[in-house]
Amino acid sequence: MTTIYMDNNATTKVADEVIEEMMPYFGELYGNPSSMHTFGGQVGKKIVQARQRVASLIGCQPEEIIFTSCGTESDNTAIRGALSLSGGKRKIVTTRVEHPAVIGTCRKLENEGYMLVEIGVDKNGNLDMDELRDSIDDNTAIVSIMHANNETGVIFPIHEIAEFVKSKGVMFHTDAVQAVGKIPINLAESAIDLLSISGHKLHAPKGVGVLYARKGTRISPFMLGGHQESGKRAGTENVPGIIALGKACQLAGDNMDEENTRVKNLRDRLEKAILTACPDSFVNGNTDNRLPNTSNISFEYIEGEAILLMMNKFGICASSGSACTSGSLEPSHVLRAMGVPFTAAHGSIRFSLSRYNTEQEVDFVAEKMPPVVNRLRQLSPFVKS
Ligand code: PLP
Repeated sequence: MTTIYMDNNATTKVADEVIEEMMPYFGELYGNPSSMHTFGGQVGKKIVQARQRVASLIGCQPEEIIFTSCGTESDNTAIRGALSLSGGKRKIVTTRVEHPAVIGTCRKLENEGYMLVEIGVDKNGNLDMDELRDSIDDNTAIVSIMHANNETGVIFPIHEIAEFVKSKGVMFHTDAVQAVGKIPINLAESAIDLLSISGHKLHAPKGVGVLYARKGTRISPFMLGGHQESGKRAGTENVPGIIALGKACQLAGDNMDEENTRVKNLRDRLEKAILTACPDSFVNGNTDNRLPNTSNISFEYIEGEAILLMMNKFGICASSGSACTSGSLEPSHVLRAMGVPFTAAHGSIRFSLSRYNTEQEVDFVAEKMPPVVNRLRQLSPFVKS
């Protein structure tokens, strides 16, 4: 059975060009980039190139790039690293719809004695900007707000937010794990201090990420040890991963227009077909301001997990908005924050496409979904016959 992969916000296929670029660094070119000899030095040069490639995708200086092991590490480093040099300020501001990498870190810090404010969103997933403005005061050490939501794709006005936060003299971090590679970002024209990236969301392998830290931004390192990454992140580098991420960033830059047109058209085609064929279904999130690849659709009265299991039989891979925790199905915290009704939050499915998807795949999924939804509704205790 062929796999139809529409779960690219979970992880992506590593691009063939990326595999080709990284392979020699698993084999013959195994030197340590910190070594003095030429053998290690040639690896060091490739890391310099990777750093330049990442910097050029996001419009910053190569020295502002810190390679990490993943988006989660970048988020943790940004938040904890900034707080430890905050000069006694105790307040953290974030949102109710962040990824667990941010929200989990912030809630742990709250348990450790920091004050935490979680800004809400409206029914379309848009941030409450007034609440945000009101929440920042002299005690605020850091504001961490995601660029684009991983579940709905909704994009926050991150540059406007950064501008405001900086005008209050507060450090600003954004988790841009879902945005980088999908939509353009130019840090040269932004007030963002810290930004997180994850390799496996943009066709590089798992196990590599980036924390961008604007020149002059003071954060204390999370990982201590050697002098790698200019003393900002110790540990011998994941050389193949870093080289892969550099290549993936270069490709993302080259493919950005395609992502914004062809992939968006595919996503819209899929969404339209499903909404037309399935009554009592609707899109979650602001449809005018979303990542081009993401569609989060609620199907009333049925369970997302059941939909996924039935789609899985056709080789279709997507995600549901609920997570099965200790036997009880908890609806997504993002959809709950948006006030999506219980009966619809449970039946949400996230389709997230990539440049590797085709029109045939979209049409196949659009054909298979309605009978799956109908069948489950026939079995649903919430639907009156
Ligand atoms: N932030 C967001 C918005 C994400 O979607 C993810 C992964 O799903 C992460 C952070 C964590 O990234 P990683 O898997 O590289 O740790």
